[in-house]
Amino acid sequence: MTSLNSAFAGLPSTPRMPALFVGHGNPINAIEDNSYSRAWRAMGERLPTPHAILCVSAHWMTRGTTLVHIGARPKTIHDFGGFPRELYAQQYPARGAPDAARAAIELVRSSHLETDTEWGLDHGAWSVLIQMFPKADIPVFQLSLDLSRAPQAHLDLARELKPLREKGVLVIGSGNLVHNLMALAPGAPAFDWARTFDAEMADRIEARDAAGVGAALGASRVARLAHPSPEHFLPVMFPLGVADEKDDLSFFTASFDMGSISMRSFLLS
Ligand code: ZN
Repeated sequence: MTSLNSAFAGLPSTPRMPALFVGHGNPINAIEDNSYSRAWRAMGERLPTPHAILCVSAHWMTRGTTLVHIGARPKTIHDFGGFPRELYAQQYPARGAPDAARAAIELVRSSHLETDTEWGLDHGAWSVLIQMFPKADIPVFQLSLDLSRAPQAHLDLARELKPLREKGVLVIGSGNLVHNLMALAPGAPAFDWARTFDAEMADRIEARDAAGVGAALGASRVARLAHPSPEHFLPVMFPLGVADEKDDLSFFTASFDMGSISMRSFLLS
């Protein structure tokens, strides 16, 4: 980072970019016209145009390492089953962002980040981006979630990525603040435990208590019901980690899908 030839120094300096958490939920939101996809489109129209997007998705999981995709042409990954053919036909042909990805690797000291050329864009990334930035004209790269590490380690890593916001990089965490597929109840109202955990998360986010958000994972019966596994929770540590008290917070799509999925999303800007 101190070298003038560093990838970070090579990125253009810009006004500070916002950061987002998006509750992505059902992959069908990529092609359906519904309240979520409409909110994502409206958000895309409202945001300043980034030079690049870093999307940390629930659906890229690693163990014992954190990977950063540096490919120039990330492929669209259809990582779901049992959906209409139209969804499998979708492509999100955004370019990769190898320069921004290498800058991210340079910035992080708390973990060893490794380059990856195999991944691409999983549906946690492209199902949202295809609505938010439908022209696919902004380069995108993903960073994996190391499931062997606690939320606090993800927060520490995210904090080191904060300077990317001054380099035109929009950081998006894509998961869900409540995500229990075993409890899915189509058409049903949200379960009490889902509402309780979602409200607790909203309070802690509002208080900018990022460490408190992370500490909640697995810490109560309600938390274990909200997240039987951690992958949809961990992406929230990234927008929280790159934010500070200077950012205004606004929630959007704060509702529930199928009883056990919180679609709550937020913007920090
Ligand atoms: Zn998901």
